[in-house]
Amino acid sequence: MKRASTRIVRAGTTAIGGENPIVVQSMCATRTQDVEATAAQVSMLHEAGAGLVRIAVDSARDVTALAEVRARVPAANLVVDLQENYRLAEQVAPHVDKIRYNPGHLFHHEKERPVHDKVAFIAGVAERNDCALRVGVNCGSVDPAMASKFEGADPPGLAGVTAMVESALEHCHYLDGLGFSRYVVSLKDSDPRKVIEGNRRFAAARPDVPLHLGVTEAGMLPDGVIKTRIAFEQLLSQGIGDTLRVSLTLPFAEKWREVEAGRQIIADVEAGRFRSVPEFLDHGLNIISCPSCSRVENEAFIELAFKVREMAQFAKDYDITIAVMGCRVNGPGETDDADLGLWCGPVAVNLKRGGETVGAFPYDAVLERLTGELESLIARKRQLATP
Ligand code: SF4
Repeated sequence: MKRASTRIVRAGTTAIGGENPIVVQSMCATRTQDVEATAAQVSMLHEAGAGLVRIAVDSARDVTALAEVRARVPAANLVVDLQENYRLAEQVAPHVDKIRYNPGHLFHHEKERPVHDKVAFIAGVAERNDCALRVGVNCGSVDPAMASKFEGADPPGLAGVTAMVESALEHCHYLDGLGFSRYVVSLKDSDPRKVIEGNRRFAAARPDVPLHLGVTEAGMLPDGVIKTRIAFEQLLSQGIGDTLRVSLTLPFAEKWREVEAGRQIIADVEAGRFRSVPEFLDHGLNIISCPSCSRVENEAFIELAFKVREMAQFAKDYDITIAVMGCRVNGPGETDDADLGLWCGPVAVNLKRGGETVGAFPYDAVLERLTGELESLIARKRQLATP
């Protein structure tokens, strides 16, 4: 398979980029503080072939648990996902091989401190602790300054791609200026077209930087793999992509399927077996659901995602997007672009109609409310279609 000539970035025992095999990654969905369950899931993913396993860490207690998980599964290469509290990098770095930060989340804390300083802080921590970095840009949570600067720069269907690419390039520039080269970049969205376009543009601008590929909130099997495959086939076949993750909503015991799906896509592309249509056609019902992680506050989320898919089958011929998200960290923002959205809290599920909140409902009542909203939406679409 043709490969772009990216530089090599080492993370623990894994080498990303250059002529190295494409590294498949996955992420734990367990509560990080449940050390038993998290260590078991890390072990499962590592044995399934994950070259890197990501864990979410949001608090000092999560850090303590992370250290224990590291001690229990020393063979696995670990990555931590920093959210708004970028200073946690200092505490997590001694226990991991790579740190991911999202440029769109560096604005929340210490608003007066320049972003460049925060990046310098993270890079310094990574350097001192022998860690690699990932600049993880998400189209749905892009840096607000970039979003407003490039508003309207993209054609319909690709909205936000320019801001996403420019944000990634800006952070590469920061890191290069700091003399830190041990980093990879990711540009993700739940729409495979944006993932393809963003990664193509970035690879053309920075062919030296290794890319981590992913389609966020791809959903459940089999649709989640199909959506991801559409993007990965287009990119891998052009030599773009050094590491990847297939993000699927799965019961905890089946998390290994993410790794299996990633390996299968790579093997198929390498063997010239393409299954996707060249273009992602925007027809019919589109259900996006997050793969879940330790930030899920109620595990009933996974069952709810499956029930939503089953319930919504009556709408399969309508161009409607329903988003089902597991937590308050990414849920409110990531549901904005969907026609109908659910994001889950500890005891209630928030129902949204586009960017507008309809209300919060108990887990056993929300499906009925969502069904009502879906029926109304279809009725409105029919009305508009009637001459
Ligand atoms: S939406 Fe929340 S629970 Fe789902 S993967 Fe993202 S951070 Fe984790």
